[in-house]
Amino acid sequence: MPRFLPRKFRAIVAAAAGLGLVLGFLAPAASADHPSEGGGFVGTPGNLEGRWASPKPVGNRVCPTKNFWVGDGWGADRGNRKHRGIDLAADRGTPIFAIEDGRVDRTKLQSNGALQIVLKGKSGSKFYYGHMDEVFVSGGDKVLAGQVIATMGDTGSPGSVHLHFEYWRSGGESAAVNPKKLISRICR
Ligand SMILES: [Zn+2]
Repeated sequence: MPRFLPRKFRAIVAAAAGLGLVLGFLAPAASADHPSEGGGFVGTPGNLEGRWASPKPVGNRVCPTKNFWVGDGWGADRGNRKHRGIDLAADRGTPIFAIEDGRVDRTKLQSNGALQIVLKGKSGSKFYYGHMDEVFVSGGDKVLAGQVIATMGDTGSPGSVHLHFEYWRSGGESAAVNPKKLISRICR
């Protein structure tokens, strides 16, 4: 069970009649017509509807979010350092997607309160996601491109709801490169 899964997404169902037991479980997305009304996200991507639907893949990658505008980019001044990613801003709760098939390297609550995900893609690259409101995956989880892994928020950046996204192309830890080209290619 993902650690940060909110209560509202857990479907409460009655077990077999006669036993009278009530179990809480994650309904598989494939069987949920309305994921926001009790279905889970941990299913085959592409079959979620409405606000949870992922963008169309481009090659084997999927845009990490949708309905966004671009904020600060690579190299923006951050006082004693430079911004090493791109900020994609949208409404709070906008779904955030696994960019490619792979595995969750880790999730973390940073000391500044920011939730982060590091995803290791099949390509060997790593992708860093920051400031999410809710995170639905844990370290070690396998993910598929387009799977909803989190929702957009402002943890660690109060009042500024956005996704901070970094592209560690070589797979080296924190070996960030400018993700602008990648984002403009796969987010259409
Ligand atoms: Zn940022």
